Amino acid sequence: MHNSQDFVETLAKVPRVKGDKKTVILGAGPAGLTAAYELGVRNSVPVLLLEKDPVYVGGISRTVEHHGYRFDIGGHRFFSKNDEIEALWTEVLGNEMLLRPRLSRIFYRGKYFDYPLKAANALFGLGPIETARCLASYMMARIHPVKDPKTFQDWVSNQFGTRLFSIFFKTYTEKVWGMPSNELSADWAAQRIKGLNLTEAIKNALFPAPKQKKNGEIIKTLIDEFRYPRLGPGQMWERVRDMLLQRGHRIAMGREVIKILHNETSVTGVVVRDSSGAQQVVSSANYISTLPIRELIQKCDPPLPANVIAAAEDLQYRDFLTVAVIIDKKDVFPDNWIYLHDPDVIAGRIQNFKNWSPFMTPDPTKTCLGLEYFCFENDGLWSSPDNKLIDLAGKELVKLKMCRPEQLLGGFVVRQQKAYPVYDDVYKQRLAVIRTYVEQHLTNLQLVGRNGMHHYNNQDHSMMTALLAARNILANSKVFDPWNVNTDAEYHETVSANDDDKSGRLVPQRVH
Ligand SMILES: Cc1cc2nc3c(=O)[nH]c(=O)nc-3n(C[C@H](O)[C@H](O)[C@H](O)COP(=O)(O)OP(=O)(O)OC[C@H]3O[C@@H](n4cnc5c(N)ncnc54)[C@H](O)[C@@H]3O)c2cc1C
Repeated sequence: MHNSQDFVETLAKVPRVKGDKKTVILGAGPAGLTAAYELGVRNSVPVLLLEKDPVYVGGISRTVEHHGYRFDIGGHRFFSKNDEIEALWTEVLGNEMLLRPRLSRIFYRGKYFDYPLKAANALFGLGPIETARCLASYMMARIHPVKDPKTFQDWVSNQFGTRLFSIFFKTYTEKVWGMPSNELSADWAAQRIKGLNLTEAIKNALFPAPKQKKNGEIIKTLIDEFRYPRLGPGQMWERVRDMLLQRGHRIAMGREVIKILHNETSVTGVVVRDSSGAQQVVSSANYISTLPIRELIQKCDPPLPANVIAAAEDLQYRDFLTVAVIIDKKDVFPDNWIYLHDPDVIAGRIQNFKNWSPFMTPDPTKTCLGLEYFCFENDGLWSSPDNKLIDLAGKELVKLKMCRPEQLLGGFVVRQQKAYPVYDDVYKQRLAVIRTYVEQHLTNLQLVGRNGMHHYNNQDHSMMTALLAARNILANSKVFDPWNVNTDAEYHETVSANDDDKSGRLVPQRVH
């Protein structure tokens, strides 16, 4: 459908001149498509996107379709503190962007608990015996706290007692990060929970702060509602793709970038391989990469200096797979998603896609649930055949009493490599080495996006970094530094390399 052959040849033949804005973009996720939108749709600069997926644009924010059921790779809320990004979403999808109510709870031993956690709801929901045990364990923690707690486990147990820690913090955290909670850093917990302990939490529950009001109306927050495309996040990116194609730009699907050719001052071309194994060289004046940094550096030809390759090889990732299961049942639970704190199920979260948007499910008498499994590429779960994973997901749903075996109508597995860039105690130094090299030696290449910058982000951050990279190309000068966009997608003119990004998401580090 998107044959880039002509364009590739044209690009290769056109001599490069100074000020040439033509751009090859590696990867058609939110970052790549936003850069293409800014250049190609808003400013009519020729762009070519190279995407390894044969079918879907949108990267981790794509929406996969199976027998008419649409589902996300994890649920994707659209929200940003950056008004420009919010406006861009409206510009692209107009009133196809829905405002959806949010409900997400914790499921533990057959009971639902509020998320974010509320003390009274958590304690009363556990029943009198378990509540008494939790209070006793909290007393013990107050009398004999772990001195100078260094781990997530010790810090949270000090604040809430070991019993509440193991019910509401331990299992889910370990599922997500794949590390025991006595190896995760305490400062992560301290930042997230902000000094709260059970006594404070109970006080807050008894004397809640009044809800914020504007003009007499209660202000709704992200906790209450969020924006979401009618047909899932992929609809946003499919629409941007279509706008680009309508204007004559090219999106080469099923083309994996396998080499980055360079002459130690700039990138001279990239080699792409299609599904038949055929290879082509594509060249242009400018390049924007959203590829995982580790892969990008390994693909450079000739190879980069050993210290740069070693830095890239130290960057780590956590992978993810989702099993979409179709159930012959109209209503399973009212939440958009629920967190599974039961240690005896492996899934970490369940999405209910028709609660994100009713248009995600073609038959309202059925439900499509997405069971999310956090894993490492090539571990047992990742390498299990699809039929075993669908079987596992079905059995877990039955165990959780969400359906009966005969209501399971089938499933579909999607594996997502490098879903999460891992923050460990070396990644910042390693990124600095790579950034410096790229800025000095690959001067016509800009790195943007999530894995493109090894930044644990939401779409808005990827998009903002991409907009700035595109604007540098339009200005023929590095006016903006995309590395100065924080997790909240805000651009700060000056950021020192040692400044911590205190915005947005927090990620635990391993304690050694
Ligand atoms: C479970 C989960 C839940 C999330 N929830 C939210 C949410 O609620 N809201 C939100 O805003 N964000 C959410 N995110 C984050 C969001 O998915 C990312 O921020 C966003 O997709 C990053 O966009 P990107 O373009 O930078 O990278 P990606 O989405 O990773 O896109 C990169 C693209 O490059 C392509 N590519 C990679 N290698 C090659 C190659 N060698 N050759 C050619 N193409 C290549 C990939 O196929 C992909 O299409 C979530 C992420 C996860 C994992």
